[in-house]
Amino acid sequence: MKVGGVVAFCGAGLSAESGIPTFRGSEGLWGKYDPQKYASAKGIIDLFCEDTFDLANFIADFYKVLLSAEPNFSHHSLAKLESLGFLKGVITQNIDNFDYQVGLQNVSEVHGNAYVFFCPKCGFRLKKNKNEIDELVSGIKKCKKKIELMTFILRFMGRCESCRDRLFTGVVLYGQSLREKDMDLAYSYLDNAKTVICIGTSGVTYPAASFPYYAKKKGLKLIVVNPESTEIDEIADFVINKKAVNFFQELMPLISSD
Ligand code: NAD
Repeated sequence: MKVGGVVAFCGAGLSAESGIPTFRGSEGLWGKYDPQKYASAKGIIDLFCEDTFDLANFIADFYKVLLSAEPNFSHHSLAKLESLGFLKGVITQNIDNFDYQVGLQNVSEVHGNAYVFFCPKCGFRLKKNKNEIDELVSGIKKCKKKIELMTFILRFMGRCESCRDRLFTGVVLYGQSLREKDMDLAYSYLDNAKTVICIGTSGVTYPAASFPYYAKKKGLKLIVVNPESTEIDEIADFVINKKAVNFFQELMPLISSD
């Protein structure tokens, strides 16, 4: 098989070995917090107005997991493969910012980014760094009164630099459409690729889960890397039942920079 122009389509399993539980894994945040409530725009707005301290606990728990984790060997390997010209793009469902942390250049974050605050009106994006997010987590813990907490959260989120509307989380929430810019970028990677490698995704979160089917229809070769079986396996050309880090540990010594 000739493997050319590779695109990686990634899911939560890629970051599992960084200590971030997968969405459907038993240790995840979503056993404690109902995603329909804590990860939907309406749910978040309702919580903000009616149960601000509960929302603050969720924000703190959510970001603590991200702040304490670092990219793993798989993320670094993807960056190396991109720098060597093998990898043409990464389409990630992850929101942990690890792809940027390792220096990947061509990334479509189809579910957004937890460090980004987004203007729903004009699309303006403001990216915060780890220290700023850390200040959010410690700041909300210090607020004793509801009004104080509400004001702190709103000030932290800030306003759009161009249209002055309030910024909202840059994570794509339940019920929201995936952003056109990221989708266009993802399709442009696939349209110019010969191979897609699906790493650490169960392939059940739509519409992102349709990318492998789109790729297959266009005649791309499909490789799945996942320790468990996935929805994508039946259309895959190769299924590699390994954890992502183990896969890259075996692959990278075979890759030559010549
Ligand atoms: P998922 O939880 O549905 O599936 C995770 C997949 O990863 C499973 O198929 C599992 O077998 C596999 N996996 C577990 N450990 C692995 C490892 N070490 N190496 C390779 N694969 C491994 O996640 P999904 O398909 O990405 O969809 C769920 C949604 O939740 C997505 O939007 C995802 O971005 C989001 N999410 C993101 C993060 C993150 O940003 N790190 C974490 C949790 C959930």
